[in-house]
Amino acid sequence: MNKAYLRAITTKLFFTFIALLVLWAGTCSKAYAQKGDSNSKESESETISVFSLDDIPAYSDNPVYIVNDNVPFFGRELMLSFYGEAYSELDSLGRCGITIAMIGKDTLPSNTRIQTPLIRPSGWKTTQYNGLVDGNYLYNRCHLIAFQLTGENDNERNLITGTRYMNTEGMRPFEEDVRFYVSSTGNHVLYRVTPVFEDNNLVASGVLIEAQSVEDDKLKFNVFCYNVQPGVIIDYKTGESRSEDDSFIAIYDSTPSGETETASRISDIQSNSIENQPATVVQFSDPNGYDPIPADVSYVGNKKNHKLHKASCESALKTKNRNREYFYGNKDEAVDSGYPEKNFCKICKP
Ligand SMILES: [Zn+2]
Repeated sequence: MNKAYLRAITTKLFFTFIALLVLWAGTCSKAYAQKGDSNSKESESETISVFSLDDIPAYSDNPVYIVNDNVPFFGRELMLSFYGEAYSELDSLGRCGITIAMIGKDTLPSNTRIQTPLIRPSGWKTTQYNGLVDGNYLYNRCHLIAFQLTGENDNERNLITGTRYMNTEGMRPFEEDVRFYVSSTGNHVLYRVTPVFEDNNLVASGVLIEAQSVEDDKLKFNVFCYNVQPGVIIDYKTGESRSEDDSFIAIYDSTPSGETETASRISDIQSNSIENQPATVVQFSDPNGYDPIPADVSYVGNKKNHKLHKASCESALKTKNRNREYFYGNKDEAVDSGYPEKNFCKICKP
């Protein structure tokens, strides 16, 4: 495959992804309505998988919080159909959105990273706390999809203002696990990183990282990494900060040229960016709009017609969420629950 061809595919994928995002943004108001109205929970909800910051406890001393029992929200179908990489357009505040990549041996970079100091992610303030923060600088230009996984570097859609602590204590161990798994097995990992912003804050409260190995079930996680720095109080609205006990002084490096650059960049993208995302509620959906099937499900029963499908069957995916019954082990369990062999799907043959 030549480079132009690859680029064409990547571009095509990217637009598919954006279409999906727009679709997703359009359904957000609905998700909010449902949130406030608990009586209609059982209704015609097309809600897919919802992550809410409300479900995350305040940071105590663990850099990471496990979400959804470590099971990613994306379903098997996306896992089997997605390849390449996609990055959301910046929103009207210049903030990053969902990023997703299929990591394989071929995406791992062999070269080393070059620093790119020109990109100023939303909320960026060059801030030093000498002696308090490891490496002195509070913020890193934090890659959503790690450089060590795809080699993606100076992409403003992939860089957020992240604390040194989140970068090294929160995200890095997971990135290293994925890299090690991919390089040692040659298998693939679907990897999605979502920065989560509260209201109009310019600095993310944290990032959600979901990963699942494709060829086997050996690597799987769904974690929230807190964008905090012990000893520092951050104003997430602006990116300003101060030390907890006032014994350390923040040293800001304000470069006016950088500020103007950011301002003009934001006005440039305002015209064609997607609708502003709901800050703390992220709703994921599959490219076709079907509810994804959790990756650890092996069989899906249809409660309405009592048919049984393999989790990978298209009919399973097309089954409405409220009619689905999930089975995680072998199919005897499904047989015992009222899906006799004569009701097995003729196409996927469970
Ligand atoms: Zn089937």
